[in-house]
Amino acid sequence: MRLVVVAGTIGGVTVSDLRTGTEAPLPRRIAVLSFHTSPLAQPGTGDAGGLNVYVLQTARRLARRGVEVEIFTRATHSSQPPVEEAGDGVLVRNIVAGPFEGLRKEDLPTQLCPFVAGVMRAEAGHAPGHYDLIHSHYWLSGQAGLVASEHWGVPLVHTAHTLAEVKNAVLADGDTPEPESRRIGEQQIVDSAHRLVVNTTGERDELVGYYDADPAHIDVVPPGADLEQYTPGTQRGTERARRTLGLSQRSEVIAFVGRIQPLKAPDVIVRALAEIVRTQPHRDVRLMVVGGPSGSGLERPHSLMDLAEELGVSDRVCFLAPRPPSELVDVYRAADIVAVPSYSESFGLVALEAQACGTPVVAAAVGGLTTAVDDGRTGITVDGHDPRVWAETLVGLLDDDDRRLSMSRAAPVHASAFSWDSTADGLLASYAGTMAAYRARREAAAAS
Ligand code: UDP
Repeated sequence: MRLVVVAGTIGGVTVSDLRTGTEAPLPRRIAVLSFHTSPLAQPGTGDAGGLNVYVLQTARRLARRGVEVEIFTRATHSSQPPVEEAGDGVLVRNIVAGPFEGLRKEDLPTQLCPFVAGVMRAEAGHAPGHYDLIHSHYWLSGQAGLVASEHWGVPLVHTAHTLAEVKNAVLADGDTPEPESRRIGEQQIVDSAHRLVVNTTGERDELVGYYDADPAHIDVVPPGADLEQYTPGTQRGTERARRTLGLSQRSEVIAFVGRIQPLKAPDVIVRALAEIVRTQPHRDVRLMVVGGPSGSGLERPHSLMDLAEELGVSDRVCFLAPRPPSELVDVYRAADIVAVPSYSESFGLVALEAQACGTPVVAAAVGGLTTAVDDGRTGITVDGHDPRVWAETLVGLLDDDDRRLSMSRAAPVHASAFSWDSTADGLLASYAGTMAAYRARREAAAAS
């Protein structure tokens, strides 16, 4: 397969190694490494979130573009077969590395060697040169990718998703700092991967600022939302969604969707709700929290339930288990506002998905959320995490029907600029540039 690059950019990506009109090879087969979490796990709980969605959605779109994709992940259940189909011909290889269950995220690095050995073993079953490129996700996979890239003689593209330096700079109360070993591991990947893919220009600047990355080796490829699944509901659809979720048609509904962990700051919304109720006790405002425990601190949703209890608002908060997109769509449609109060967010897929469903988003003005939300048009971005400021912002929007309506009309239009198809096109352009540069370097080295 050949790709003719006519303008030097595809899917919004500038492919720096390609000159106008040159031909660049596209990969026929890629190995995607997702060591710490499987793309088939239910997102919204434990370690499964946006990364899982990203890996699965882009793999399927790449497969539809003719690229054979094999995803390597760590097996987490004895019943998992060694190889599973993940749709559109994408294969997931479940590598046995360590205990199936009960391995804490902090202990995952101890299982990197068995994982790499499993990846090598799987590749050994193929003819030499089976994969054209490796794409690793999160730093642990990046470490495995460095070995595989060296061994197979193919380029490594890496997406960090989150960075230790960035997380540690904005730690929430009760959150455990990321260890120095992770930062060192990330630095090694930044120094040695052939290309880094990030979600936003802000993330590119973080890689350059914190890790001294070469900007010429970074491609900005925005993630997407499943725009077939997440669509605005009709009036009747929204009413039905509320009935399904046991919500009154008259209530004002705020939703929080995502993993329950300090970094996501669900407690800020519970406190904001308590502030609204304290100042306007007769207001019929409700909070829907959809997601499961994850990480440290607020690892039991019980601690969030306890907080709601303590603040006297437990009768106004409903906690719902994580659910697949086919059901999550009802949550987004049923809500008047989706709140994303995170301390740090590399993009914030939830914000995109909610907007795709026509729901305005009130989000913290951090990371990718400032790109995901068009402040003042499709939602509001809030500086800081003061629950009183959040309460004022939420009430201001709940009280302004015209503004909410205008935002809910603009939101799906804004979200439509972010599709997984564009992400896949952007990744293909990035892969093509990486492979061309890698081959050129090898040829130059062989000639000298
Ligand atoms: N999600 C889901 N079901 C749930 C809760 C969340 O499928 O019950 C998905 C959600 O649709 C989104 C992802 O989990 O695609 C969370 O991604 P986001 O970027 O918002 O946060 P992350 O988990 O990466 O920190």
